[in-house]
Amino acid sequence: MTTTTKRAKRPMELSVRLAGYIIRNKARGRSRFPLVTMLEPLEMCNLACIGCGRIREYKPVLDKMMPVDEAIGAVKESGAPIVSIAGGEPTIHPRIHEIINRLVEEKYFVYCCTNGLLLERVMDKVPPSKYLCWVVHLDGMEEKHDESVARAGVFKKAVAVIEQALDRGYRVCTNTTVFRGSDVEDLSEMFRLVSGIGVEGSMISPGYDFVDAPDQEIFLTRQESHSKFRELLDSENSEGARFYNNPLYLNFLKGDREYQCTAWSNPTYTVMGWRKPCYPLADEHVERVAELFDKELWEKYGPGKDPRCANCMMHCGFESATIFNAVGSPRDWATLIKSGAAHKGGITAA
Ligand code: SF4
Ligand code: SF4
Repeated sequence: MTTTTKRAKRPMELSVRLAGYIIRNKARGRSRFPLVTMLEPLEMCNLACIGCGRIREYKPVLDKMMPVDEAIGAVKESGAPIVSIAGGEPTIHPRIHEIINRLVEEKYFVYCCTNGLLLERVMDKVPPSKYLCWVVHLDGMEEKHDESVARAGVFKKAVAVIEQALDRGYRVCTNTTVFRGSDVEDLSEMFRLVSGIGVEGSMISPGYDFVDAPDQEIFLTRQESHSKFRELLDSENSEGARFYNNPLYLNFLKGDREYQCTAWSNPTYTVMGWRKPCYPLADEHVERVAELFDKELWEKYGPGKDPRCANCMMHCGFESATIFNAVGSPRDWATLIKSGAAHKGGITAA
């Protein structure tokens, strides 16, 4: 394993554009609008992770590949300046390079979530850009990660491709889902490792208890999440780590703050249409993104309203909430600006 201190920086343009976008939408009187378009151009994957709901929920349409124009059209319909590409494993899509290159050309900020196994071949067709960041899935050090993705050897490949991507000049982050069996010391070691290699940051979130996941016991309750993240984020365990999530969301994970879910800010487009209401839940799929912003819809969803929301603390619902709340709080806004994290409206990953 080589070590490098190369570290791409978060583009300042992202923070500036996102702040301007929020101000313009607020000025137009919009109370619900998207910050991040979640694009799932396929649901097929080359892994079968223990906590993944997607590969099970979309079993009947796993072979469906979203046409390039449809993917671009969905991003434009949403209008959010940030696009998070997930799935399924995006690098399996035969035209993923065209989707990414077109979005980058149009200056969307693209975060492409991947397990890393096939990333090398996509990098050959997608040049580095400040508008593009690979987000590589890592749930722990070798033993824990390979257990989480249910295949030996994946950790080594993921770390090797992260190093290669950094050497080739790409921006790279990691994405970690925290489960009941996650080991805090093991996670801390992994965060230090990837920070030392030079990733831009590590995104973390507790897993959502997808009904389609085979083992419901692996998911944390809200209270368990609070104590796990308190331990993970305390000064000793987080030393040397570089988290990509904003500090207000990290405080929320520790149970120091409460927010109302704002998952309408991360609309999710799949091969079956827009998930309604949100990234974790699809009570139906709809044709128009506008349906996801109805006031009446959000009277039914969120903790305390729908039992399936009780343990949800995902980025898509709550990191965006920290940003919308901060707009009305100069102190919180200053915290976001100071941390350089106001740019990321709740990006999540596969
Ligand atoms: S979590 Fe991601 S990498 Fe794992 S099976 Fe699901 S889509 Fe594939
Ligand atoms: S809390 Fe929000 S993001 Fe989570 S499942 Fe409920 S509606 Fe979706």
